[in-house]
Amino acid sequence: MRMPSDDAQGDGAQRDGAGNGAEASGLAEMMDGSKDGARAVVLPAHERPTALLPLFAPLRGLQGVGPALERRLAKLLGLADPAVLDLLTHRPASFLDTAPAERLEPADEGLVRTLAVRILAHHPAPASHRPFRVAAAGAAGEIELVFFGNVQRMVEQRFPIGGEVLIQGRVQRFGERWQMAHPDSLRPDEAGLPLAVYPSSEGLHQGTIRGLVRRALGKLAELPEWLEPELVRAAGWPSFAEAVRRIHARPDAKAEARLAMDELLAGQLGLQIARRSRESAPGRAVQGDGRLREGLLVSLPFPLTRDQEQATAEILADMAQPQPMLRLLQGDVGAGKTLVALLAMLAAVEAGHQAALMAPTDVLAAQHAQGLARLLAPLGLEPLLLAARIKGKERQAIIRRLQSGEPALVVGTHALLQEDAAFADLALAVIDEQHRFGVRQRLTLRAKGAAVDLLLMTATPIPRTAAMSAYGDIATSVIAERPPGRQPIATAAVPVERIAEVHDAVRRRLERGERVYWVCPLVEVSLREDQAAVEARVEELRLLFGDAVGVVHGRLKDAAKDEAMRAFAEGRTSLLVATTVIEVGVDVPEASLIVIEAAERFGLAQLHQLRGRVGRGRTASACILLWRPPLSATAGARLNALRRTNDGFALAEEDLRLRGPGEILGERQSGVPVLRLADLQRHAELIPMAAAAARRALADDPGLRQPRGAALRLLLHLFRRTDALGLLDGG
Ligand code: ADP
Ligand code: MG
Repeated sequence: MRMPSDDAQGDGAQRDGAGNGAEASGLAEMMDGSKDGARAVVLPAHERPTALLPLFAPLRGLQGVGPALERRLAKLLGLADPAVLDLLTHRPASFLDTAPAERLEPADEGLVRTLAVRILAHHPAPASHRPFRVAAAGAAGEIELVFFGNVQRMVEQRFPIGGEVLIQGRVQRFGERWQMAHPDSLRPDEAGLPLAVYPSSEGLHQGTIRGLVRRALGKLAELPEWLEPELVRAAGWPSFAEAVRRIHARPDAKAEARLAMDELLAGQLGLQIARRSRESAPGRAVQGDGRLREGLLVSLPFPLTRDQEQATAEILADMAQPQPMLRLLQGDVGAGKTLVALLAMLAAVEAGHQAALMAPTDVLAAQHAQGLARLLAPLGLEPLLLAARIKGKERQAIIRRLQSGEPALVVGTHALLQEDAAFADLALAVIDEQHRFGVRQRLTLRAKGAAVDLLLMTATPIPRTAAMSAYGDIATSVIAERPPGRQPIATAAVPVERIAEVHDAVRRRLERGERVYWVCPLVEVSLREDQAAVEARVEELRLLFGDAVGVVHGRLKDAAKDEAMRAFAEGRTSLLVATTVIEVGVDVPEASLIVIEAAERFGLAQLHQLRGRVGRGRTASACILLWRPPLSATAGARLNALRRTNDGFALAEEDLRLRGPGEILGERQSGVPVLRLADLQRHAELIPMAAAAARRALADDPGLRQPRGAALRLLLHLFRRTDALGLLDGG
């Protein structure tokens, strides 16, 4: 259960994903409900200003929106409870020219055209699976409109016999006859103007969305200006309301930039308010005496790299400060982040506190626990594992130890989040593969200790602008240089019809005593086809390589999963067929070849992560990307990028270019809140401007109480950063 105070403790200013808008408004409602309660102090900030109420009215309040349509809109907008505002910020994907075509040419085949026609006749469907046909003709000639489904009433209303209508849709030619399936009918006042085409989903017609947007625009009133007047003037931007109107009317770079600025400014304000509150929160200086760290370092068979030393020093310096730490540790797969994290955790333990390492999957948590156990054995220390698989008495014992406050080093999955009162003295929380967690989860973990230092680790490099918009000016340590002796991983893309050559390559590796991963794309809850494909592949490989073959996938029981991983790590099996459960963090230095099947179905970041499973020892390693035709242009570009470089940072930039930031920065991918109006590439220069504007605003008016401050509060409401308002007034 998340109480409002959770947000007041963590830097809850970030909105995790579109789905959270609903949560944020739920929060506001919860607080409204406790008007006379103890939280009355923070209440005013969360109460929605009257001026915004029409914008936050639920969509079902719009004329024509019934429960079915509302459900579709909720799905389209990715919100449980979409409001008028959410439709207004649903940007058109493009605009269509609505000037009616004078004639249709063969070259028009398959294209969207607008036609002015008169409706000549209706031919209702003769049988249920046949279409309703409508004969029409205009300046461009005769055309048949076809409609499937239960459409009689709709057709009679929108395309009455004798009616003059403006229709729009994709035209198709059958012999000499033109046809248009499910055309939109345009209103007379839409003729000749650019017509917005919205991102849509099944069952939602453009005409419906346009009509609703029109009605939603009717609820939009002018709001006080929150941007600095000089900025607005210099950029030539319209007001917020005007900009919203304009983005639905025609392509308009200035209106889009204005709204992007608003969204970025709300984000930066939220981050800076959270940061201020974090830094003024009582923290504690954690400074160990170094004895455990020294013990670890002398027991290692290798020295730290310079980058590891530097990163460790930066982290320890943060921990020694009285303010709580928030630091991001970036380093490509295999760069040696875990060791750095362990040193930081040891410093906390030296100082008599508890430290936790949270991993995104059970397999990875278990592996971390094993790996740390090996490293810590010479020191006589043992890490505790708290994961879903640890049950009963064992779990109770661990929780008791954490509650006792004795110094401890804990590894776990999300289960760490559930043990509410478990940590009596958590000083440092390390989050591995942070992009796999939601913002909300990270903040919950952090809220577990009075002043927990937080270290986020990522192997998925976040481009600078994206990092800034997600975290503000978060302190970052980078491990750029890899441990010595690593060789680049040779990468080849091979079509599946040449699989025999791949078998040969596997055989050569196995004969030399090396180990091989064979990755199959199995969506965890599993498509039947995928499942069958994996089974067929395992059977084939068993025929070829016999007992050398082990199998691990997400549907195995934990114990079976562990056993399969252990058998491979210890060399009892040497060819591990795996689904993407091995994607992150798994570390078997003897593995020197990874075959990735259906590589065209994986994303670039994921392929790079998978490839990072090899090349961790001294053997020259290779990666074979097995693909199945047809190969789309972007899939081809992804495979090529991987062949060209082993550099995760270069690949992240390439990914950004291929997919656009919207996708790469989806909450699921990176833990970065989704931006709806700003485009991190197109509006890159606005990010530092927004950060600076937020700084000025908070310097001038720290409590946002002046008139412009009040306007900025509206902005925070509009972008649902109400938790920042809570920090401002209550926290
Ligand atoms: P990451 O988490 O950054 O992907 P790991 O921490 O798993 O990388 O380290 C990868 C491998 O490199 C591990 O086997 C680790 O023991 C080894 N390693 C770490 N630091 C060094 C170093 N300085 N020199 C040699 N090997 C190292
Ligand atoms: Mg790792």
